[in-house]
Amino acid sequence: MANFDLENISGVGPSIKNKLNSIGIFNSRDLCFHLPVNYQDRTKVVQLANAEVGKEIFIECEIASCQVLYRPRKMMIIKASDSSRSILIRFFYFNPGQAKQFRAKKIIRFYGALRLGAYGLEMIHPEYQIIDDSDMPTEQCLTAVYRTTKGLSQNQLRKFIKASISSYDGSDEIDLKKYGLVSKLSLIDALDNIHFPDKKIVIDDIAPGGQHPARQRLIKEEMIAFQVGMASLKDRQEHLQATALSTQGGWYKSVLRNFPYELTGAQKRVVDEIGIDIAKTAPMMRLVQGDVGSGKTIVAAISAAQSIDNNAQAAFMAPTTLLAEQHYINLKNYFPDYKESIALLTGSTKAKEKEKIKNGLSSGSIRLVIGTHALFQDDVSFLLLGLIIIDEQHRFGVNQRLSLRSKNIETALIPHQLTLTATPIPRTMAMSVYANMDISIIDELPPGRLPIQTTSLGMKKKEQLISRIEQACLKGSQVYWVCALIEESELMNANPVEETYEQIIKQIPSITCSFLHGKMKADEKLNTINEFKNGKTQIMVSTTVIEVGVDVPDADIMIIENAERFGLAQLHQLRGRIGRGSKQSHCILLHNESVGEIAHQRMDILKESTDGFYIAEKDLMIRGPGEIMGSQQTGVIPFKYTDLMRDSDYLEETRMIADKIYKEDKKNSEKLIQRWLSGSIDFADA
Ligand code: ADP
Ligand code: MG
Repeated sequence: MANFDLENISGVGPSIKNKLNSIGIFNSRDLCFHLPVNYQDRTKVVQLANAEVGKEIFIECEIASCQVLYRPRKMMIIKASDSSRSILIRFFYFNPGQAKQFRAKKIIRFYGALRLGAYGLEMIHPEYQIIDDSDMPTEQCLTAVYRTTKGLSQNQLRKFIKASISSYDGSDEIDLKKYGLVSKLSLIDALDNIHFPDKKIVIDDIAPGGQHPARQRLIKEEMIAFQVGMASLKDRQEHLQATALSTQGGWYKSVLRNFPYELTGAQKRVVDEIGIDIAKTAPMMRLVQGDVGSGKTIVAAISAAQSIDNNAQAAFMAPTTLLAEQHYINLKNYFPDYKESIALLTGSTKAKEKEKIKNGLSSGSIRLVIGTHALFQDDVSFLLLGLIIIDEQHRFGVNQRLSLRSKNIETALIPHQLTLTATPIPRTMAMSVYANMDISIIDELPPGRLPIQTTSLGMKKKEQLISRIEQACLKGSQVYWVCALIEESELMNANPVEETYEQIIKQIPSITCSFLHGKMKADEKLNTINEFKNGKTQIMVSTTVIEVGVDVPDADIMIIENAERFGLAQLHQLRGRIGRGSKQSHCILLHNESVGEIAHQRMDILKESTDGFYIAEKDLMIRGPGEIMGSQQTGVIPFKYTDLMRDSDYLEETRMIADKIYKEDKKNSEKLIQRWLSGSIDFADA
């Protein structure tokens, strides 16, 4: 039997089934593919005298006493010892039955982290097993630790997985070797190894990020399945119908006439690529990658104009209200004769206004709508939506991206889709991750830009820095001062934005300064930005809300406070807010006095280059194994085990195999998709 329902596993009733479902497990096959996140070594007992404090260890002790105390809170304290030393075991959550188990002279094996408390060695809430007889054998395999949920214990999961694996006959296994996969292991062997590793295997090898062949085998199969899925998605897309948008008319002329600059060569090329695509009856799926500041907005505006000239509507989606508002202001300037046909729809649009816009969209009187998530709401529909533009794609949830697809009233026509991103993803990776899309690259910045000069500075010099900023502002500079998000645990301290703001206005009162953070009202935020844009304020202290898309070409200085807390991609994005005019811009990374090695390397890379692709490649190199790439960076990709950054070496090999399978064997392709992506491939369909 290859796959069966969860009810058939002994110990699984309705409530356990729900719990399993909640962690994405729906059948026995899902259990087989629920891979361990870590392992414990319970194969041999360690002597307390030889154990290292801080490590998780497996010990065997004789109980001396067990007491339930109520000071300061209820706890159960067990005194125990092995032949080398004694230890205190503490439980805060326990039932009376448990207290009875720990009678004097009982032999018990504990697994947990060894700590040094006020009374010597301790373990808190270890896992334990009562041993009747000290000769009882220890585990033969490393013990897997799984991702689980409340009310579903590790032991239960282990038991269910064991049952599923032992009846998994591998009959739906696909012979990937036939298509070029190099691996000594079959799928079933790999699964067996991963769940029940032999005690000789080193934990770091088999754990996530390790190089053990079993893990590599599964990661590769997942990558192959994903790429097969993308190929099939691309196929499906090509069979859908869209409106051909070929005419270039009044709107098109308007945007070209009113854009104040000459398009760069790269912009022209990409505009042409899009123009040709949307003139076809198959829906376009195109991703425009262009570094921060490369001028993606105008490319999108021209494409929108072409759609509208064909009696279709265009929707321009931005991830934040702030950015949508900025786009709205800019776009209206490109279409001065059509202002009445352009609308802004965000979460802060008033009910009455919203009603008007909704009517305009369904009647067709509104031709271009700029908006946020609000555009996804069920009650918004279009007369004929020809083109969807998604700005800063990685910021959107996938399901939201999906739901714009079916917005047209009374027509089966699918809108063309244009996606914009500045996320610098290395090329090989982009080819796989976005295999269902065509990619255009804007690889040229508008002329006259000077590379931003980046330096770093320790926090001790903050006061001095503020004085230097004063000098610069007196000469006409405009400054973004970005503070790191506060973590929950630090909330007792003042908000860093307000703290820095106070410090600045106190130290240099002659310079106008404002602040901006996520908790402010939408119109307050917009006001603050506009005042900064108009030059009314010279310094704007903010959180990372300004990270995406905000465009103030005159701003020429950026301070990033606590720069050590940001990832490279984010630092690069933030820095991209300056260097947009022809002035020399400066970025100062203000960092904590003591900074880790990786953070240092990040700052060095940033000082070295302003090229997003170069920075992305370097990012790949300095990331330690096992560091999970934030879903932010690629949009949400439904990988279970693969970390695209970490495992990027396999992309080439697995893509070739995937191509082959997809071309040669539709049945096996379907099987792979079913097994690995069951349902989730729609995720990428955005
Ligand atoms: P991004 O690609 O980061 O979205 P924007 O579209 O916001 O970049 O453009 C960044 C800035 O560059 C804007 O101020 C825009 O007006 C300006 N810009 C865009 N294209 C050109 C061009 N061809 N020549 C000069 N400036 C340009
Ligand atoms: Mg942009």
